[in-house]
Amino acid sequence: METRKRAFLKVIILGDSGVGKTSLMNQYVNRRFSNEYKATIGADFLTRDVTVDNKLVTLQIWDTAGQERFASLGVAFYRGADCCVLVYDVTAPNTMDSLDAWRNEFLEQADPLHHDEFPFVVIGNKTDIQAKSEKNSVTQSWCSGKGNVSYFETSAKNGSRVEEAFQTVAQKALEQD
Ligand code: GDP
Ligand code: MG
Repeated sequence: METRKRAFLKVIILGDSGVGKTSLMNQYVNRRFSNEYKATIGADFLTRDVTVDNKLVTLQIWDTAGQERFASLGVAFYRGADCCVLVYDVTAPNTMDSLDAWRNEFLEQADPLHHDEFPFVVIGNKTDIQAKSEKNSVTQSWCSGKGNVSYFETSAKNGSRVEEAFQTVAQKALEQD
């Protein structure tokens, strides 16, 4: 009999306000998109069950609920995270420049055991507006310079690459757990 408990994996989504964090979560969990700007979804997190390596795991995805100012989220938000998603907007290149600050903020607050090996997934979002990020090559080299970081370009609006990105999030979170 299978006696192992199902893994609950905690995922944090960070990035500048307006890049599409809430929309990505909503597309991944509810397969819905809204053009209306909503600062918060009114919940701390959303969950979705996903299969990784033939194991059913529950991803618990934590959103920032409009508190995208450094040091405003508190330790409970970060505690026990298994993977961190860093989002920027491919139509607003300056939001890519914030990735470093968000990564540092996460490492400082969550303080995982091995900072250099902790899994991050970087997402350049809104490819339905602009097919490819101007910052694609900059981001690629930023990611390879940081160690355990994967990079995807997505659209939360039409769903492009959202499944693939979060499948990698789940895989990395399970390896970290
Ligand atoms: P957050 O502040 O990072 O949570 O960003 P939101 O998810 O609230 O999105 C900010 C705005 O960008 C909203 O008006 C969304 O409808 C829009 N948006 C988010 N993702 C996309 C996308 O992939 N494509 C387009 N065209 N708009 C998006
Ligand atoms: Mg939001």
